[in-house]
Amino acid sequence: MVLKIYNTLSRKKEVFKPIKAKEIKIFVCGPTVYDNAHLGHAKTYIQFDLIVRYLRAIGFKVTYLQNITDIDDKIINRAREKGLGEDGWKKIKEEYEKSYLEDMKTLNVDSVDKYARATEYIPEIISQVKRLIKKDYAYKISDGWYFDLSKDKDYGKLAGRKNNEADDAVSRIDENKEKRNKGDFCLWKFSKTGEPTWKADIGAGRPGWHIEDTAITEKEFGPQYDIHGGGMDLIFPHHEAEIAQMESISGKKPLVRYWLHTGFLEIDKEKMGKSKGNFFTIKDIIAKGHDARHLRYFFLSAHYRKPLNFSLESLEAAKNAYEKLKNIVSELKTSKEKKNAKNIEQAYKQFLEIINDDLNMPRGLSFMWDILRDDRLNSAEKYELILKFDEVFGLDLGKKEKVEVTEEVKKLVSEREKYRKLKDFKTADKYREKINKLGFVIEDKDNGFSIKKK
Ligand SMILES: [Zn+2]
Repeated sequence: MVLKIYNTLSRKKEVFKPIKAKEIKIFVCGPTVYDNAHLGHAKTYIQFDLIVRYLRAIGFKVTYLQNITDIDDKIINRAREKGLGEDGWKKIKEEYEKSYLEDMKTLNVDSVDKYARATEYIPEIISQVKRLIKKDYAYKISDGWYFDLSKDKDYGKLAGRKNNEADDAVSRIDENKEKRNKGDFCLWKFSKTGEPTWKADIGAGRPGWHIEDTAITEKEFGPQYDIHGGGMDLIFPHHEAEIAQMESISGKKPLVRYWLHTGFLEIDKEKMGKSKGNFFTIKDIIAKGHDARHLRYFFLSAHYRKPLNFSLESLEAAKNAYEKLKNIVSELKTSKEKKNAKNIEQAYKQFLEIINDDLNMPRGLSFMWDILRDDRLNSAEKYELILKFDEVFGLDLGKKEKVEVTEEVKKLVSEREKYRKLKDFKTADKYREKINKLGFVIEDKDNGFSIKKK
């Protein structure tokens, strides 16, 4: 069985070969913690979680590292907007890091081995800037140290741009008229009053945005590693800048063997934006009463590289499919049939072959549905297969649901019981309806009843 992965760097599907035969080191750009995570984050981090779970399922020892940008203009500005005073940036970053980790837990994103905060790698960042200065890749102007793009002939190889085209770069460009080339980016920003700052012999200041990733990965992984992931919007200039920094420092190429990028998320066929009123945080969706597993199912149903359109209707469709699946699985669970190990092995192999073709999760998901309809497999075999697939999908299909019943519902349930005992089934049914309206279903059984979420 051969795993093939599309590599942004070569623009081709390649046979996957990590540096060490059975080990994979993967780094994915994490969030800047100045606000609650939104659906775009949910897409990227669920889809990379699926990928890492899969790589582990096929036997690789994966180390999954993610950074947390906890020092940045956006964080400082948010603290100012909120009037939080000089140390306010710390409050902001702590609050939103906590919120982010909560969201990941809710979404069942549990494959990350280490979250690395930028502020915990300041000595490594300074060391990288110093090495770039020494090798004459960096120069100093009034507000900081910058990377000189004209010194790097390779710049643009990931995005397919040349360094003289870098001036139409898209996001978070450092502006300063003294720059040598328009696309030059800041490595180290000198301190301004009222801003967080770290002492350094290159001048007191704070890191530019791109440098934290290479400082973190050099410390944790070394100058070269297997996979770097992130949203497609990060290819340029962010990932290009990472390559420029680390390959200039180490002289070793490539920094990363395989670059993987997730496609954009649109909301109702438009770019998500706060000004457009189509901006959803993960918490917004959960607050609307959606289960996080419905979101997971939704993001599983599209290939990670493809753009995806989100709408509340499509989430509803994912919910229906998921609930249907869950019901089928809970029926299979009770089967006492004898399993044939060969049948299971064969079907599982087919599943892996499907996903091995560029990590094709949506095809793996539809294969799961095929399995459920396959007459050649008995229920016990199907159940075992579903559980194996779910180690990758993370949909909690085998998990028994823990229903948290509210006080209000508990009261209604005991009222209903009272009328049932009096054989006043008409009144009892009225209570059943009230319970339904609150999102719960009562099922009467021989020895009592059970409550399930609708
Ligand atoms: Zn990054």
